[in-house]
Amino acid sequence: MRKGLLQGANSLFVRDPQKFWWRRFVIGASLSVVIVASAKGQDWLHQNNAWVPGPDGTSVRSPDDSPQPTSLTWSMVPGGVEQSNDSSRVTKDFTEMGVSGLSSFDDYALVLEAAVDAWASAADITNLGYIAETGDVPIGPSGLLFEDRGTASGVGHIRFMAFDQAGLGGASALAQATPIPEPGTPVDNGYNLSRAGDIRFRSDAYLWDDLLGQDYFLNIAMHEIGHILGFAHNSVPDSVLSAPYTELALGNGDIAGAVAIYGPAGGTAIPEPASLMLAMASMVCLTGWRPRKRMPV
Ligand SMILES: [Zn+2]
Repeated sequence: MRKGLLQGANSLFVRDPQKFWWRRFVIGASLSVVIVASAKGQDWLHQNNAWVPGPDGTSVRSPDDSPQPTSLTWSMVPGGVEQSNDSSRVTKDFTEMGVSGLSSFDDYALVLEAAVDAWASAADITNLGYIAETGDVPIGPSGLLFEDRGTASGVGHIRFMAFDQAGLGGASALAQATPIPEPGTPVDNGYNLSRAGDIRFRSDAYLWDDLLGQDYFLNIAMHEIGHILGFAHNSVPDSVLSAPYTELALGNGDIAGAVAIYGPAGGTAIPEPASLMLAMASMVCLTGWRPRKRMPV
C-alpha cells in the first residue's frame, strides 16, 4: 500500500542498457549476525521465533511468535546530526553521496520511497509515509527504541542516514542496516534496539558516482530494507539480497519470502505489537570492491 508523500521515482531509473554493457561490477557482501538460530526445512517455512530457511537455505526471520510491525513510517536524517553517545559521528547531507543523476534531497527521497514501496507492494506491509526530520533527534544508541518511532516522535520507523567512512567507525561498508529485532527472543540489547530500523549509507562510497549509481542506490536501499525486514543474504540471482546489486525490482524469491513472513499484499494487517522485546543484536552490512574496468573489445 502506498501512502507516501513522494511519487514517481520509477522514472528516475530509465536507462539504456547498451551504454553499460561493458561495465562489470562485483560487490562482496558480508553479514554479521550475533544471534542466528539455524533452521532446516522447506523454503520459506514459518517457524515460531526462529530464523527460517530462504530459497537456497539461507535464513529469514519468522514473525509467528509475535507479529512483526507491518505499518512503517520512514524518514531521512539531515546532515549534522550526532550519534547520541559519540559526537564524532555526525551525519552527512544526502547530497554529499553524489549519486549520479541525483542532485537534491528530494531526488534522494524519491529513490528511498521507491525502495520502501517495493517491499510494501510485495506483501502485507504498509508504507505509512515519509516523516520530515528536524535534525533534533540524535542517532542511537540511547535514542528512541524502534517501537517508539513514528509521527509523534518525529522520526520514521525506518530511518535513512548518510555517514562518511569515519562516521561509520572506519567501516568499508557501502551501507549498513540494523534489523527490527526478532520478536519473542529472550535476550535484549539496548544498543541494537535504539538503532533498529536505521539504514546507514556511506556518503563517500566510490560507487555512487558510477554510471549505474542510481541503480546501485535503489538496489542497495531495497537490500538494506530487506535486512530491516528480516532477510539475510542469499545467492538467488534475481534477489536484491544477492549480487550484483543492480536489480531495479524485488526478485521472485524476495516477494515469496516477504509474503511468507508478512502475508500477501492487501491481506489482513497484523497489529503492531505493544512491545518488542527482543533481541537479536545483529548488524548487517554490505561491503564492496570494484575491479578494474573492462573496456570494449
Ligand atoms: Zn547486506
